[in-house]
Amino acid sequence: MGRIQLHDIRKSFGAIDVLKGIDLTIDEGELVVFVGPSGCGKSTLLRMIAGLDKPTAGRIEIDGTDVTPRSAADRGLAMVFQSYALYPHMTVRANMAFGLQNTRMPKAEIDTRIAEAAKMLEIEPLLERRPGQLSGGQRQRVAIGRAIVRRPTAFLLDEPLSNLDAELRVSMRAELSALHDRLGATMIHVTHDQVEAMTMADRIVVLRAGQVEQVDTPLNLFNRPANLFVAGFIGAPG
Ligand code: ADP
Ligand code: MG
Repeated sequence: MGRIQLHDIRKSFGAIDVLKGIDLTIDEGELVVFVGPSGCGKSTLLRMIAGLDKPTAGRIEIDGTDVTPRSAADRGLAMVFQSYALYPHMTVRANMAFGLQNTRMPKAEIDTRIAEAAKMLEIEPLLERRPGQLSGGQRQRVAIGRAIVRRPTAFLLDEPLSNLDAELRVSMRAELSALHDRLGATMIHVTHDQVEAMTMADRIVVLRAGQVEQVDTPLNLFNRPANLFVAGFIGAPG
């Protein structure tokens, strides 16, 4: 579960074509990183996949089913944002439970899932605190925990580390990769940071001005960049 296929995804805002026809297959369990300069359409593309916005044209399939007409709630994916988007007045536990409460899931199951995720992310001592009492890194862990408890088919992470200081960002890269291995779920991780992409990805999708420039493993991108843009962006000798 968790194969995501994009067929000629296009998105325009008024006269501006932000996504110009994206074709891409993300395999089950893959950790794919979307990388590209600010404004190239990474967040827009992720929002289309999540179902938070509709493409102007094109089709999105999850595990062979056309989900293009479906709302975000009916796609079984979980999105994690750069800004955490935690509810400030709720405890960490309540934040993590929030997305499960209207699913008729028994409270015992909700508690079990929260305990599991908290253990995995090492945030057990923080469960009764509120977001205001947490550091940036702890908040981002909670935001990831909130996604994990939903057991989504895929995780969509939009620059989840970019609000963290440099040292924490580096250690969180490794943590996210380890978490991916452990969960075995499909992950799409968006970043504008080349090093982050190179260190985390199974495959990298290089985007530029709403188009895919190249899709390949970090090693192949480095050794065989398709063009000067990719070479320059990845930092390889072109
Ligand atoms: P990235 O995440 O790669 O930095 P975005 O996907 O956020 O880029 O934005 C791509 C382009 O689309 C930008 O030029 C941005 O201004 C434009 N854009 C994004 N969302 C909207 C919107 N709701 N209305 C108009 N323009 C938008
Ligand atoms: Mg963005």
